[in-house]
Amino acid sequence: MSKRTMMSVAALVGLALIGAWVVLSVLPPSARGADTPAQEFSAARAFTHVRQVSQATHVAGSPANDTVREYLVTTLRGLGLDPQIQDTVGVSRSDDEVAAARVRNVVAVIPGQDSTGRVFLVAHYDSVQTGPGANDDGAGVSTILETVRALKLGPAPRNDVVLVLTDAEEACLCGAEAFVAQHPLARDGGVVLNVEARGSSGPAIMFETSAGNAGVVGVYGKHAPHPVGTSFAVEVYRILPNDTDFSPFRDSSRFTGLNTAYIDGQAAYHKAQDTADRMDQRSLQHHGDNLLALTRSFGSGDLTDLRAPSGPDATYFPALGVLITYPDILVWPLAILAVLAVAAFAWWSVRGGQSTVKNIVISSALTALPIIVTVAAAQLYWTILTWLRPGFTNMIDPWWPVWFRWSVVALVLIILISGYAVISRRFGKVSASIGGLVWLALFGMLMAATVPGGSYLTALPALAGGLAGLAGHIAARFAAGVIAVVILAPTVTLFFPALGLATAAAPALFAILLGLALLPMLEELPPVPWALRSLVLAVVVLTTAGLVLNPFDARRPMPSQLMYAVDTDSNSAVWATTEASPGAYTKQFVSKEDSAAAFPALHAKWTGPAAVATLPPAQVTRAGKTVTIIPQRQVRLIHITVEGGTIESAGGQSVNATSLLFHAPPASGLELTLSTTAAVKIRVADGSDGLESLPGFKPRPPDVDAAGSHASDLVLVSKTYELK
Ligand SMILES: [Zn+2]
Repeated sequence: MSKRTMMSVAALVGLALIGAWVVLSVLPPSARGADTPAQEFSAARAFTHVRQVSQATHVAGSPANDTVREYLVTTLRGLGLDPQIQDTVGVSRSDDEVAAARVRNVVAVIPGQDSTGRVFLVAHYDSVQTGPGANDDGAGVSTILETVRALKLGPAPRNDVVLVLTDAEEACLCGAEAFVAQHPLARDGGVVLNVEARGSSGPAIMFETSAGNAGVVGVYGKHAPHPVGTSFAVEVYRILPNDTDFSPFRDSSRFTGLNTAYIDGQAAYHKAQDTADRMDQRSLQHHGDNLLALTRSFGSGDLTDLRAPSGPDATYFPALGVLITYPDILVWPLAILAVLAVAAFAWWSVRGGQSTVKNIVISSALTALPIIVTVAAAQLYWTILTWLRPGFTNMIDPWWPVWFRWSVVALVLIILISGYAVISRRFGKVSASIGGLVWLALFGMLMAATVPGGSYLTALPALAGGLAGLAGHIAARFAAGVIAVVILAPTVTLFFPALGLATAAAPALFAILLGLALLPMLEELPPVPWALRSLVLAVVVLTTAGLVLNPFDARRPMPSQLMYAVDTDSNSAVWATTEASPGAYTKQFVSKEDSAAAFPALHAKWTGPAAVATLPPAQVTRAGKTVTIIPQRQVRLIHITVEGGTIESAGGQSVNATSLLFHAPPASGLELTLSTTAAVKIRVADGSDGLESLPGFKPRPPDVDAAGSHASDLVLVSKTYELK
């Protein structure tokens, strides 16, 4: 082995070790026990709240949710606060529907000594109807309770700290909507720290900010002890159809703030399996360490400039335990510098006789292939997994996905190494390396134009790679490799849980881009014939292990989504599901693809005939413009459509729509105001639990359970009224 080869091997080993360090640095800290000093955050102490809050499913409006709320009020009183209930109706508008809910937010204030603005700690205490919500969002509520306990031991903060434990987040974000729109404490805006979970484990990622985030991100980077967040996540999140309580605050343009969630262990999300015993308490500790430190720093600083959106956005990313930030004004200059550095390297190598213009151009063009093949292979891999295990079809991640994630990484390495071997043999190693850097520089420009917060991901490694190429020394290449690993490895790590194996193309794309940045490290290495064979073997072994270790059983069941709707006008009923390709259990109920079912609110994809159950529809009466709807069952929502007029208000809050989905209606009835006293036709469908007592229902086998969807196990009863 030549000295240069030995140095290259040593450098690669060094990079692998740094890669491991980088991945570990974005994982959550260890959970701290009940003996943690009182001024600090203890996951064990917070977890006692998680247990209390998640004893039962507690959907908005349910008696179980009243119990949770009483626990929160009692606990806050015990901490010396004076919690108030904001009891109102919250209205939320999205593109396709207007939703509302009766909400009871728990609001408490720790008054500041000399307040320059308000800091809001926000989490929702309601759960979905299909699970007890230990993580979502028992974790958030419990993190806030433990944070307040620690906070109260110190001197009173300078700024007002306001706790907002919201109701009906799962239904329609209506608790947060009501707070933002109606509560006097919300009038002047402030800094919002929202605490969430979309799974049961993984790091607490700060994944969303208000617009003009440089100020708040600066505080986060400086004071959060374990900062994990990237400006790229903000861009990705904007594309996804998800929302949290943070949205109403953000959309009002009065607030600034940070939104944090842990998102791994997604298979438990919104399900009966979202229980306390499945929570990884390290994630709770991560939430708490950061929230306590941020509450102290926002609570003690001058909020005059921070409390309302202003100033630029920042690019930021985690690097070995710290957060690197720079203003977005540098995004384009860095992207352009990266292009220039790679071009200079190319020119230099042509001048030095290591490559030719033609070889560089062809190598660059051919490098598109491994990138495209990677994206296709990662998606095909998931398709194959769903053939091998059809139960994966309606999941975005299996219960224990790590085996498959490493398998995708091995696939990417196979594609990278084969592509490099072919291109470098024909066009030279230097041209092949430059071809990789060209793509990094191109992605840097592309993202600067479309998702500026993500441009750093490839522009900085391209810039470092170009400069290292010009320097020509192995130490410079190693430094460029370190930069690529530090910048790209966290995104690969965090993208697997963020999008799930169902969208493995995303982490795979960034994995191959990382590989392309490291090609100069391979130049001194002789071909290793067993490398490819070992990687293929790794894919086979990891995939087999993943399949064997991911059986469906009572503890980790297969999700199934089933609903039932009876139309009392036509005296007919259907089973319905939102599953795109219904699993074996659901198939027993649905038989035809039918997205235009009689109940558009169900968003059903398949339906099947059902026996008509004797369930009483809601009673509807009218006096002038006022319509009163009184459910005759224990319902959790009412869907109303009006012809011949509009719904002006519901529960006293302005609605102005012809159709409304109202969650958690009061048992005494829901009052609507119509726009007219003329005759109208009104269709009312109310929804409840109780699927299991319907005629024709077959109980789920132990390895099948309700899917984590907002309409799972819903029983709808509808009736049309002509109101004179
Ligand atoms: Zn949530």
